[in-house]
Amino acid sequence: MESAYTLANRALTERREENRAEQERRVVEVRSAFPEEYDRIEAGLRRGGTALARCVLTGGMDYEKIEESIRSLQKQRRELLKSLGKPEDYLEEVVTCSLCRDTGFLETGRRCGCLEELIANSMGASSNLTGIMKEQTFDKVDYTLFAKQPKENGREPLTYMKTAYEKGFRFADTFDKTHGNLLLMGNAGTGKTYLSSCIANHALKRGKSVYYQTAFRLFELLEKLKFDRLLPEEEELAAYSARQIHQADLLIIDDLGTEFVTAYSAAAVFDLINSRQLQGKSTVVSTNLNLEGLEKIYSKRLTSRFLGGFEIIPFIGQDLRMQKHIRTGE
Ligand SMILES: [Zn+2]
Repeated sequence: MESAYTLANRALTERREENRAEQERRVVEVRSAFPEEYDRIEAGLRRGGTALARCVLTGGMDYEKIEESIRSLQKQRRELLKSLGKPEDYLEEVVTCSLCRDTGFLETGRRCGCLEELIANSMGASSNLTGIMKEQTFDKVDYTLFAKQPKENGREPLTYMKTAYEKGFRFADTFDKTHGNLLLMGNAGTGKTYLSSCIANHALKRGKSVYYQTAFRLFELLEKLKFDRLLPEEEELAAYSARQIHQADLLIIDDLGTEFVTAYSAAAVFDLINSRQLQGKSTVVSTNLNLEGLEKIYSKRLTSRFLGGFEIIPFIGQDLRMQKHIRTGE
């Protein structure tokens, strides 16, 4: 798998090629409607341009006359386009981004926003987030879902979850500097995966690499890699995933505790989290279990790692998926 920057540059090159092809197509279109007119105008404009340049160099007197003839030819070209129902600039250079003219860089030498976006897209494509998850962002969180929920142990779900999302946002905005980790704990359907997606998307927007994997798939992968059980067609993707879980700036392990745990996978998850921590790379883990539950399935070693190196965000409230269905009558 190539870097997001290489992929983005390739996309930009493709964009330039497509635009050039579109421009050529337009010329053919107009010329085939009015071949003689078109050739006469184009030849006239070329001659005018050369004459104008020569005039400037030699200090000729006809400058205004030549300019006048160029303007007249341009007007004829506009009328020609108009008669075909095309806009005035139909034959001009086709560009997707007028700021950098599809070069990806501004005059100041800085990356243009369009290139930044392509890089973010390439990263998003390799992040393993599902289509729905890519849509889940901090600005779309629907707090009304928490508003009507009853208090839980004296805690107001709305206030509580707002704080949880604020913590999540702060994390997504700074994890590469703080090297922090998050453990999202709570019952199914309380929004842990939703917050994980928000964090992932915000990190991608900031140009960080993100890799998402459910614990179930992650362990399946680790087991297959370890015991050499990969089918030939699985090898490439598995090698890519294996690299990503170690190297991505942010790894998200969703739903820890729902997978089938073997002695090997219990050790492997600890090693993975441990080695990421040593490299200063951040991990977000979500689980339906509490610490005692995790300890029972995995090890004390893992839960003390969570207690030591992870900020724990407990999720409260009722199953939002159920609520949403009741609300929208689905
Ligand atoms: Zn641009």
